[in-house]
Amino acid sequence: MIKSQAASLGFDACGFAAATPVDDEAVARYDRWVEQGHHGCMQWAAGHRDLRRDPSMLLEGAQTVISLALNYYPARFQPSDALRVAYYAYGRDYHEVLREKLTKMAHFIEEITHCTTRPCVDSAPIRERYWAQRAGIGFVGHNNCLILPGKGSFFFLGEIVTTTQLPPDEPCTMTCGDCGKCVEACPSGALDYQGAVDASRCLSCLLIENHDEQLPEWVGDVIGNRVVGCDECQLCCPHNAHAVATTIEDFAPTEAVMTLTRERIEAMTAGEFKRTFAHSAISRLRYKTLLRNTALATGEK
Ligand code: SF4
Ligand code: SF4
Repeated sequence: MIKSQAASLGFDACGFAAATPVDDEAVARYDRWVEQGHHGCMQWAAGHRDLRRDPSMLLEGAQTVISLALNYYPARFQPSDALRVAYYAYGRDYHEVLREKLTKMAHFIEEITHCTTRPCVDSAPIRERYWAQRAGIGFVGHNNCLILPGKGSFFFLGEIVTTTQLPPDEPCTMTCGDCGKCVEACPSGALDYQGAVDASRCLSCLLIENHDEQLPEWVGDVIGNRVVGCDECQLCCPHNAHAVATTIEDFAPTEAVMTLTRERIEAMTAGEFKRTFAHSAISRLRYKTLLRNTALATGEK
């Protein structure tokens, strides 16, 4: 019933995992990543490590983590004269869309099980790709994205932690094998063949999370015409070769994204930026960060 409710709400995958503490190897990998400073400017990633280890710290009596995935691969793309925005930020803010759907799921689960739920969409420190792999909906690629076998990686993830005990799915055991295409395609050398990402070199992180007045000089050599995020390590992945466009209208590119040129950005005010992108993931940037990225992407270093 829970899985068919997920499908009827438009989710492309739904799996269950027992809410036991995260395994030692995955904890050690995460700790190493933070200790090496590979979380870059994402200071939040270094915090709440106890909560990340144990879903029962997010919800007392947690028995199951339900992992859900929602396709955002676009049906329409920006024209070539627009400055590039990563596909995930084309349409309405995914936090809003996912939260609405997860809330409906949570109500449904509470109604049929009389148990407690906690929906999570970037709103709690939870290892979402770990749980998605455990719940059998995909595996973590060397591009650090969750890859759904046969469907690709252009998916948003959300979780519902619940006190209901559900039969766990078989974890996904697929791997990248010796592919390595994303490691070679990454413009800034942020990936390695062991599957680690150095966020301090990742354009996605630098262009969105880093609000310094200036980015390191080398970024100007690799930024291309990107101003919000980077999809390169997904676009080159063979698992995305047959990605199917989402049917969720909320994820279609907005007018502002379709017409995002340097002239348009520079003509805005900070207030207009806020209004234009109020319901977009682009609001995570500040206007001055978008201006900084624009200057770099258009060769004005
Ligand atoms: S998002 Fe771009 S910069 Fe970051 S790892 Fe992927 S290809 Fe490299
Ligand atoms: S491009 Fe190859 S190595 Fe990279 S995530 Fe896809 S399958 Fe894995």
